[in-house]
Amino acid sequence: MTIQVIRDGEPSFEVEKFEGICPFCAREGRKSQLRPGISFKTAMYFAPYYDEEGKYHFHDGNMTTTDFGCSNGHRFDYRRKGYCSCGWSGGLNEIKLRRP
Ligand SMILES: [Zn+2]
Ligand SMILES: [Zn+2]
Repeated sequence: MTIQVIRDGEPSFEVEKFEGICPFCAREGRKSQLRPGISFKTAMYFAPYYDEEGKYHFHDGNMTTTDFGCSNGHRFDYRRKGYCSCGWSGGLNEIKLRRP
Protein backbone atom coordinates (compact mmCIF):
# COMPACT_ATOMS: atom_id res chain seq x y z
CA MET A 1 0.00 0.00 0.00
CA THR A 2 1.47 3.33 -1.03
CA ILE A 3 1.73 6.16 1.45
CA GLN A 4 -0.12 9.36 0.75
CA VAL A 5 1.90 12.45 1.61
CA ILE A 6 -0.18 15.41 2.70
CA ARG A 7 1.03 18.98 2.64
CA ASP A 8 -1.09 22.06 3.38
CA GLY A 9 -4.03 19.79 4.09
CA GLU A 10 -4.04 18.26 0.62
CA PRO A 11 -2.56 15.09 -0.88
CA SER A 12 0.69 16.21 -2.45
CA PHE A 13 2.49 13.08 -3.64
CA GLU A 14 2.87 9.39 -2.83
CA VAL A 15 5.77 7.29 -1.67
CA GLU A 16 6.15 3.53 -1.95
CA LYS A 17 7.48 3.10 1.55
CA PHE A 18 8.70 5.02 4.53
CA GLU A 19 11.90 3.72 6.08
CA GLY A 20 13.80 6.37 7.93
CA ILE A 21 14.17 8.93 5.13
CA CYS A 22 12.32 12.22 5.34
CA PRO A 23 9.96 12.13 2.31
CA PHE A 24 10.01 15.92 1.96
CA CYS A 25 13.81 16.06 1.85
CA ALA A 26 13.91 13.09 -0.52
CA ARG A 27 11.52 14.95 -2.80
CA GLU A 28 13.78 17.99 -2.78
CA GLY A 29 16.94 15.92 -3.22
CA ARG A 30 18.27 16.88 0.20
CA LYS A 31 19.64 14.72 2.98
CA SER A 32 18.73 14.89 6.62
CA GLN A 33 18.67 13.01 9.89
CA LEU A 34 15.27 11.88 11.03
CA ARG A 35 14.14 11.61 14.63
CA PRO A 36 11.04 9.72 15.64
CA GLY A 37 9.18 11.25 18.56
CA ILE A 38 6.11 10.21 20.46
CA SER A 39 3.99 7.41 19.08
CA PHE A 40 0.48 6.57 20.15
CA LYS A 41 -2.21 4.17 19.09
CA THR A 42 -5.96 4.14 19.50
CA ALA A 43 -7.18 1.32 21.72
CA MET A 44 -10.27 -0.24 20.23
CA TYR A 45 -10.60 -3.98 20.40
CA PHE A 46 -10.46 -6.01 17.20
CA ALA A 47 -10.68 -9.77 17.49
CA PRO A 48 -8.13 -11.85 15.56
CA TYR A 49 -9.31 -15.14 14.09
CA TYR A 50 -8.18 -18.25 12.20
CA ASP A 51 -9.99 -18.91 8.94
CA GLU A 52 -11.17 -22.24 7.51
CA GLU A 53 -7.62 -22.99 6.29
CA GLY A 54 -6.07 -22.23 9.66
CA LYS A 55 -4.57 -18.93 8.51
CA TYR A 56 -4.29 -16.25 11.12
CA HIS A 57 -5.99 -12.91 10.52
CA PHE A 58 -5.76 -9.78 12.55
CA HIS A 59 -7.73 -6.92 11.07
CA ASP A 60 -6.58 -4.16 13.35
CA GLY A 61 -8.46 -0.95 12.65
CA ASN A 62 -6.58 1.01 15.28
CA MET A 63 -4.63 4.03 14.13
CA THR A 64 -0.98 4.51 15.07
CA THR A 65 0.44 8.02 14.90
CA THR A 66 4.15 8.74 15.15
CA ASP A 67 5.61 12.22 15.22
CA PHE A 68 8.84 12.80 13.24
CA GLY A 69 11.22 15.69 12.92
CA CYS A 70 14.09 16.02 10.43
CA SER A 71 17.26 18.07 10.69
CA ASN A 72 16.07 20.37 7.88
CA GLY A 73 13.06 21.44 9.92
CA HIS A 74 10.30 19.23 8.54
CA ARG A 75 7.87 18.00 11.17
CA PHE A 76 5.27 15.48 10.25
CA ASP A 77 2.97 12.76 11.56
CA TYR A 78 3.03 9.28 10.14
CA ARG A 79 -0.45 7.79 10.57
CA ARG A 80 -1.44 4.29 9.60
CA LYS A 81 -3.89 1.53 10.38
CA GLY A 82 -3.19 -2.18 10.44
CA TYR A 83 -2.91 -4.56 7.50
CA CYS A 84 -3.16 -8.34 7.22
CA SER A 85 -1.41 -10.94 5.05
CA CYS A 86 -4.75 -11.65 3.31
CA GLY A 87 -4.66 -8.20 1.77
CA TRP A 88 -6.99 -6.52 4.22
CA SER A 89 -5.96 -3.05 5.25
CA GLY A 90 -7.48 -0.40 7.45
CA GLY A 91 -7.27 1.98 4.50
CA LEU A 92 -5.11 4.61 6.14
CA ASN A 93 -1.41 5.12 5.46
CA GLU A 94 -0.34 8.72 5.29
CA ILE A 95 2.34 11.23 6.16
CA LYS A 96 1.07 14.62 7.10
CA LEU A 97 3.32 17.67 7.23
CA ARG A 98 2.65 19.86 10.22
CA ARG A 99 2.26 23.57 9.82
CA PRO A 100 5.21 25.34 11.40
ZN1 LIG B 1 13.06 16.84 5.82
ZN1 LIG C 1 -6.86 -11.13 7.06
